[in-house]
Amino acid sequence: MVARHDQTADPVLLEGLLQARRGTAFFARKLNELTDAELDGDSLLPSWTRRHVVAHVGYNARAVARLVEWADTGVETPMYPSAEVRNHEIDFGATLSPIALRNLFDHSAVHLNVEWRDLPADNWHHKVKTVQGRTVPAEETVWMRTREVWVHAVDLDNGATFTDIPEPVLERLLMDITGAWHARGTDEALVVEVTGQASPLTFGDTASASPTVVSGSLPAIARWATGRGTDGTTAKRDGTSLTPAPPAPAWI
Ligand code: ZN
Repeated sequence: MVARHDQTADPVLLEGLLQARRGTAFFARKLNELTDAELDGDSLLPSWTRRHVVAHVGYNARAVARLVEWADTGVETPMYPSAEVRNHEIDFGATLSPIALRNLFDHSAVHLNVEWRDLPADNWHHKVKTVQGRTVPAEETVWMRTREVWVHAVDLDNGATFTDIPEPVLERLLMDITGAWHARGTDEALVVEVTGQASPLTFGDTASASPTVVSGSLPAIARWATGRGTDGTTAKRDGTSLTPAPPAPAWI
């Protein structure tokens, strides 16, 4: 029998799936607002046109779907055979005709959604491996995709901003990024403060005696932390303002 709804009943996972689906719909909307000619324009990512972003998001859905298939069948299928293959695929995808590029995005998103929907509840706990080599439960594929669609919708550079991204997505993104800095030790003497929250959010080297403190709203801080600009942030060290805020440590 073909499943018509998600097989999992886990409320946290269902909420995550909702954010992934909303993000996919948001990306689709921004993509549909672009004319074919506008696809040739620059994205916010260095050396990538909008075509590269669309190709990457399409191939990312296929790669994430491979992990879900792995969790379903137990047959190991990595996201990408290698980093070279991944990069080559994006460069190739960027040369596709506008209709083919749009189809790549649409079809890959539908396929991934079907894989998620039909994955039996227990298989969501099966272990798969990310492109960085981390072993994670299949549940993690939902977040991997959520991050991609929301942030790359902004990268299309036709009006989406970090304020369009739901707060729970921004918070988790910030936890991911600051966690990566911490693991690499690149957050030394750096404190990140999210203002305007009911309960204040602080990340980074909070034990430092004289840290550089970068503050701003959740969208502004998430934007800065992903390396996409300093608008809406302020920074100070030992009571002295630093303008603009220093660039965030590398994330990926
Ligand atoms: Zn990406």
